[in-house]
Amino acid sequence: MPRSVTILGAGLVGSLLAIILRKKGYNVTIYERRPDMRKENIGAGRSINLAMSTRGWHALELAGLKEEMEKIAIPMNGRYLHQADGTAAFQQYGKNNEAIYSVSRGELNKKLMTLAEENGATIVFNQRCLKVDVPTNTVHLQDENGKEQTVVADLLFGADGAFSGLRASYTHMDRVNAAHHYIEHGYKELNIPAAKDGGFQMEKHALHIWPRKNFMLIALPNIDGSFTCTLFFPFEGNPSFQSLKTEAEVKAFFEKEFPDAIGMMPTFIEDFMNNPTSSLITTHISPWHYQDKSALIGDAAHAIVPFYGQGMNAGFEDCSVLSALLDEYGDDWKTILDVYEKKRKPNGDAVAQLALQNFIEMRDKVAEPAFLERKKIEKE
Ligand code: FAD
Repeated sequence: MPRSVTILGAGLVGSLLAIILRKKGYNVTIYERRPDMRKENIGAGRSINLAMSTRGWHALELAGLKEEMEKIAIPMNGRYLHQADGTAAFQQYGKNNEAIYSVSRGELNKKLMTLAEENGATIVFNQRCLKVDVPTNTVHLQDENGKEQTVVADLLFGADGAFSGLRASYTHMDRVNAAHHYIEHGYKELNIPAAKDGGFQMEKHALHIWPRKNFMLIALPNIDGSFTCTLFFPFEGNPSFQSLKTEAEVKAFFEKEFPDAIGMMPTFIEDFMNNPTSSLITTHISPWHYQDKSALIGDAAHAIVPFYGQGMNAGFEDCSVLSALLDEYGDDWKTILDVYEKKRKPNGDAVAQLALQNFIEMRDKVAEPAFLERKKIEKE
């Protein structure tokens, strides 16, 4: 008998999971904290575009969304390095023209929500999960006016991101190990608009990096000809978010560090002053699930820093693995959730570690002469 599934969070992973579960015949209801982003302009949330890799494409194929997203994805075949000495270098990702793809987070999320609804899932917006009574699977929800209600879930997934309500509730239970770690750097988004003729101001098929040892600027292309730039920068020290207080200090810093970029960034000073500064967190938790009643998925299970471009991809792979386990074990959810955690937890831990290491590679190692030489030899 198909069971009813309650999902917390209609983000990238929660919406994709809903599609997969609907296709297997489950009744699905999602409770989402935010209003409907298809109707209200709430911003796309963190990072306007994302790098999608093979793991992500595979999961989108299961959902039936691969072809549609491919039309609005921009292949990035390598890194384009903007060196401190003013020179530039292109490092291809693979010998066979392999690429990762820049996709709009907002468009992807909206399409996933719509497809989830078209497949029969219900999304209830403006419902924040306050806590879950884990043994009874009772979800405490609050709407935008503060009105509270409880829902008893048959099967519950926490796809509600790094600060998940279900995850927080697990941490209050006996023998649950949980940890989180903020790195010293945060990030701020900036913008390179399209050229006057609507084209791109820099190479379109590349992930652009300005490596500056302890910090870096990156830029990913958007289909409207613009680039979303992200400055990964320490919160404290010199230079840092804390040390750049005035417009004059911001201007002087960018002129010194990114002289080739600012010519393309007419609003970098006001963007820097006005855009939020966000922190970066890694989380670990064990176990990830409770009996056959509930489980964490995506960032709720394994939030990682973004330097490997794999957070969403790993969350999508959680969905692919669950889909395959459903095919294998039917509705034996006790086994499915046990095996899901056994398969996915080591991967989540590994990618979290790789993501932290890759920050050092991206902001520092890629610019070292030996690394550039190695890449040159690999190309030949
Ligand atoms: P989220 O995207 O966080 O979605 C959670 C959803 O749950 C949201 O809709 C939220 O509103 C809702 N919610 C939250 N709390 C509650 C609650 N209490 N009750 C109900 N609903 C709730 N990954 C990549 O693969 N490639 C990249 O290039 C990449 N770049 C990144 C760049 C940056 C700067 C950052 C910060 C992250 C990046 N990531 C990238 C990681 C990626 O953003 C996440 O891994 C991905 O968003 C996780 O999806 P999710 O659905 O699990 O969580």
